[in-house]
Amino acid sequence: MSLIDIRGVSLQYGDRQVIKQVSVQIEQGEFFVIIGPNGAGKTTLLKALSGLHALVGGDILVHQRPITDYAKKELARTLALVPQQINADFPFTVAETVLMGRYPHLGLLAVEGKKDLEMAEQAMEFTEVDHLADRRLGQLSGGERQRVIIARAICQQSKILLLDEPTASLDPAHQLRIMDLMERLRCEAKVTIVMVSHDLNLAASYADRLLLLKDGEVEKVGTPQQVLTSEQLSQSYGCTLLVDENPLLGRPRVSLVSAGAAVTTNR
Ligand code: ADP
Repeated sequence: MSLIDIRGVSLQYGDRQVIKQVSVQIEQGEFFVIIGPNGAGKTTLLKALSGLHALVGGDILVHQRPITDYAKKELARTLALVPQQINADFPFTVAETVLMGRYPHLGLLAVEGKKDLEMAEQAMEFTEVDHLADRRLGQLSGGERQRVIIARAICQQSKILLLDEPTASLDPAHQLRIMDLMERLRCEAKVTIVMVSHDLNLAASYADRLLLLKDGEVEKVGTPQQVLTSEQLSQSYGCTLLVDENPLLGRPRVSLVSAGAAVTTNR
């Protein structure tokens, strides 16, 4: 049985359908990456997975139960969303922000106990933001802020992490740091990772399987080798993308080829 079962899901904004009859299963412990051109519906699908977007058709089952059957706190204990945009004006410190991840676990009085504080500390250590504990979010770099939001999600202790382009606007070293963090979470804490990414090479390096979306529909689901072919990508993205094998990883490597570059190579 799959951990997440997306069955014929359709989603709309107003009367415009942006996800059309999408079906895909995600397995326990997978590193699953959703790719596709701008406007394909990746963020909308991820929001629907986290229960933030009402379905107009189909069903999303987690542990074989429709997410609409989950109480709000129960769903938050099951899956955590790391959104694309984090408001830098968020008027809380790093420690306070991370501790908010405990909210779905608190009782009626909503007072954090010693265990909650310990978990927040552990999450900050894991994402290496513990030295920033007393700083406000607005006083951090983009990469640091991203790690704080991931720490909050870890503190939530959900076994499913949904991430919307967590490496966007980060330099290569920080991109790798976030991706390695995800891989460690998957291996050490058995967390299932579902990530939207624009970076086809990062997706190729880390994903077990990929979902390629276009215009709200499934173009292809499969391993990086199955999905990331030059023919498939060039057709889906509408530009020439060359795919060869990364000699270090043995996984696909995607290069953008401009018409000018083709002329230069042929010279
Ligand atoms: P992606 O993440 O693949 O770039 P999105 O899920 O953000 O795509 O958007 C899918 C489609 O839905 C796009 O055509 C986008 O313009 C539209 N869309 C996204 N958010 C909204 C919104 N809040 N209201 C209306 N349309 C939206």
